[in-house]
Amino acid sequence: MFTDNGLNDRRRPVIGIPTDHNADGVLTVPAVYADVVCAVGGLPLLLPALSDPALATGWQPLLDGLLLAGGADLDPYHFGQDPLPNLGRIAPTRDIVELALCRAALAAGTPILGICRGLQVLCVAAGGTLLQDIPTQVMGAVKHRQLAPRWYGSHDIDIEPGTRLAALWGDGPHRVNSFHHQAVDLVPSDFRVAATAPDGVIEALEHLGGAYALGVQWHPEEMVAVTPNAIKLFEDFVAAAAVSNK
Ligand code: MN
Repeated sequence: MFTDNGLNDRRRPVIGIPTDHNADGVLTVPAVYADVVCAVGGLPLLLPALSDPALATGWQPLLDGLLLAGGADLDPYHFGQDPLPNLGRIAPTRDIVELALCRAALAAGTPILGICRGLQVLCVAAGGTLLQDIPTQVMGAVKHRQLAPRWYGSHDIDIEPGTRLAALWGDGPHRVNSFHHQAVDLVPSDFRVAATAPDGVIEALEHLGGAYALGVQWHPEEMVAVTPNAIKLFEDFVAAAAVSNK
């Protein structure tokens, strides 16, 4: 499906990808995340969603980059709220290990790319909060849980000028896929909004300082085959991880 970009002649940056821990006790992650990391010259390393956050500090020195994938809702306990009735499935051990890994990566300056749930993990790890359910919390919201094919861009976003995302995709309107009902609410202090949907829902965050930490609410890994821009997010992230390659 993907072609290598010629980085095989030196050690590939190791990109940690935490797995899901589903209700059947099975650890899973969609293969497309590992495929796309391979395609842009990274070496994916799947990390089990175990409940001991101390393991995160053991994994952190092994990683050149951290890719936080999509999946279940975050437990609002982690941002100081009680669960609303429309909260979806949560994955408690995954929350614990991903938040610990993300905080360790932020502290160490290890590049982070968050996708969908991964953006939300990045937000909460850095001190932000989430909307638990867009349809009941955002008046006039557009449809953020599309029933169209996964590669299809179903709503617009507006990318802020001067952001890293704008350097990759160009500022202004773009069309993206959408499979979420949670979203960033309070933006963490070290971050800025890089893109919003027409209803004001935050669709991307990026770090304001020198650290590479970018999160997008859509699923670029599902758009690689049809949208030339999509792969640029992964190229940029793995290139940053290669620079931090220990
Ligand atoms: Mn959306």
